Amino acid sequence: MFSNICEFKEAFLKRLEMTYGKTFPESTLNDQYSTLGHMIREYISTNWIQTNENYRLNNEKQVYYLSIEFLIGRLLRQNLINLGIDKIVQEGLEDLGIKLEDLEEIEADAGLGNGGLGRLAACFLDSLASMDLPGHGCGIRYKHGLFEQKIVKGFQMELPEQWLRHGHVWEVRKPDLAVDVSFWGKVESYEEEGRLKYRHMGGETVIAVPYDLPVVGYETSTVNTLRLWSAEPSSYKAGQDTMRHKRDTEAITEFLYPDDTHDEGKTLRLKQQYFLVSASIRSILRSYLERHGDIHRFHEHIAIHINDTHPVLAIPEFMRILVDELNLNWEDAWGITTNTFAYTNHTTLSEALEKWPVRIFQPLLPRIFMIVEEINERFCKSLWEKYTGDWQKIEQMAIVSHGEIKMAHLAIAGSYSVNGVARIHTEILKTREMNLFYQFYPEKFNSKTNGITHRRWLLKANQSLANLITATIGNRWIKEPHILSSLLSYKNDSALLTQLELIKKQNKERLADIIFQQNGITVDPNSLFDVQVKRLHAYKRQLLNILHILSLYNRIKHDDHFDMQPRTFIFGAKASPGYFYAKKIIKLIHSVGQLVNNDKVVSQKMKVVFLENYRVSLAEDIIPAADLSEQISTASKEASGTGNMKFMMNGAITLGTLDGANIEILEQVGKENIFIFGLSADEVMKYYREGGYYSMEYYHHDQRIKEVVDQLIDGTLPDSGDHFEPIYDSLLAENDQYFVLRDFSSYVSIQKQAGDAFSDKSSWLQMSLQNIAQSGYFSSDRTIREYSDEIWKIRQSILQK
Ligand SMILES: *Cc1c(COP(=O)(O)O)cnc(C)c1O
Repeated sequence: MFSNICEFKEAFLKRLEMTYGKTFPESTLNDQYSTLGHMIREYISTNWIQTNENYRLNNEKQVYYLSIEFLIGRLLRQNLINLGIDKIVQEGLEDLGIKLEDLEEIEADAGLGNGGLGRLAACFLDSLASMDLPGHGCGIRYKHGLFEQKIVKGFQMELPEQWLRHGHVWEVRKPDLAVDVSFWGKVESYEEEGRLKYRHMGGETVIAVPYDLPVVGYETSTVNTLRLWSAEPSSYKAGQDTMRHKRDTEAITEFLYPDDTHDEGKTLRLKQQYFLVSASIRSILRSYLERHGDIHRFHEHIAIHINDTHPVLAIPEFMRILVDELNLNWEDAWGITTNTFAYTNHTTLSEALEKWPVRIFQPLLPRIFMIVEEINERFCKSLWEKYTGDWQKIEQMAIVSHGEIKMAHLAIAGSYSVNGVARIHTEILKTREMNLFYQFYPEKFNSKTNGITHRRWLLKANQSLANLITATIGNRWIKEPHILSSLLSYKNDSALLTQLELIKKQNKERLADIIFQQNGITVDPNSLFDVQVKRLHAYKRQLLNILHILSLYNRIKHDDHFDMQPRTFIFGAKASPGYFYAKKIIKLIHSVGQLVNNDKVVSQKMKVVFLENYRVSLAEDIIPAADLSEQISTASKEASGTGNMKFMMNGAITLGTLDGANIEILEQVGKENIFIFGLSADEVMKYYREGGYYSMEYYHHDQRIKEVVDQLIDGTLPDSGDHFEPIYDSLLAENDQYFVLRDFSSYVSIQKQAGDAFSDKSSWLQMSLQNIAQSGYFSSDRTIREYSDEIWKIRQSILQK
């Protein structure tokens, strides 16, 4: 292809002219981006083919990671870095007068996910490929990813996202690998060789067409595959309403459901889930059976991972094929199945645990429903053997009960491994939410603390910091992130700390420019950048943050002697379109922002900024510029969090509750290098169990609280109308379910402490360095190593050339 700048330029220009029939000066940025993208994909293709060939020929075990979301973001720069050609390309383009950054901006974020769960899946793929592990992703190619957020007068508006408008240069459509997926219809029984058999008849068949994306490992020849399925109408059948069939089919992969917690009780959502798993299982089995004849040894060669319960129908679908099509008996089929599947739980919020009404499920998936019922019957029978007579326990654990299918129960029964995503989360699963299952299947439960790929969140997103690290300790950390800890010996190296300070400052200046361009607000790069970016949800408590800001405003207004470390409060968050309360919080942030930013005195001390349309590429701009990382969920509610890890890796200090992975961050950095406040998970759960919390008492006894809560409805806030009454009511009438007022005073003091600490520059920089140095544990390389060794039993696959 090309191995130096000259060759690159020549190939680039030639290709540009051939593709667009234009001379270089006539070409647009779009033409240039697309030319470069296709060139790089071609550059990848030799290794991609080789990797697949290698997997076909060798006998090593492989894993398929099934996820309804992959929050990929942009790929151009990451691919260039991983291929080790970013310098050549950047300099070659520069010679032609093109800035690589400008081309990067052309690429649409592939936003096929809501938040942490989808981003985790994307980070895992990077780690798998970079560690030469045979692991592939299976997902859905939504035509529209997560909605684009526009803020109009402080309100969130949602626009359909259009990532495919100019095509997606990285994908390869594989129509010859398409498979059929069937819905509706009925089940017929018949006899064959003395056995009662079932087949699914009639109904609606759609075609699942795969689009493959290469997953390029860092400085290795491994290129794995992310296979995204798209629904297309099947060819005409007699009597079919063709237009309607086309519409119904295309609807399946039209939109990502914009909700990461509430269970969506929609037929279309169930259709999406079955579509993903049916197509994926079909294609996994096809490639397995091509390589090995013997279905009985499937689990020795393949592991299938289900990311949360959305893909859990893979279990009955796999059973269906083994029993109905490959003629296995139930016991053998179940044995293979329960040695193949592994399941990750992502939440303990009960409103997020998926349950499907039988009346919706059964007609759409009649044969799958029969299989789920059979699994349930046999499962309940095994419960009966252990807990004879304990009807109540069996009812609580059943997979089908009270007209509903409990997806998490199906996942646990059908998998050999069940894991939580941080230590505290797994403990809560074992001792509370899934305690009955833990007692029955203790050997299945294990914990795998989440991670993030440091190659995107540090090497790519913060290139100057990455360069400083490499200049200081060499580049081995890029492959072995635990080596970051050798930075610890530089804690008293003032030259290094000065450079660290300079880099943070430059990142803050860059973010300040973005803020000015997007919001027209001028912020001071010397102020403390205090950042909370994540999905908007009551449990994440953006409300606590904004009420604290309002109380700082009040202090500055009342007290001439009050002084504080100047701050810039930065928010970014999408609210699910149907989540009324979350949208009110967005409005509140804007309203308080207006009050603060337009006040001559207060705005000298602080600014409030809401950056719209939070997404991966924006996160990459924000996180390297943060000083303080707000991770303030109600303890016990945030399963892990991964935003917290990205901030830490970029030298921000965490200000958070003892929740999710914050606890493990505390263990890594030590209590001097993190700001912890608020109720513990045990205290929160005790309140839930035994009562004893009365938010009204905190309202009456703390003047600061009373003042900010009253201000929600007394007209203090600009353009407030009656918008904030629901928030006011949630805090008082509904007794503040997320303990915002309970934790308020603790939050105020820790914030004061953080502000004071920031004014001591050199000790702050030491804290910052300590955080970077200890962040290696939170690389998804560590997480994936644990999954590979302990759950999947897969090994590094060396390419045979
Ligand atoms: C990492 C990430 C998240 C998850 O953030 P949390 O703070 O863990 O909730 C959500 N959205 C985007 C775009 C991310 O990159």
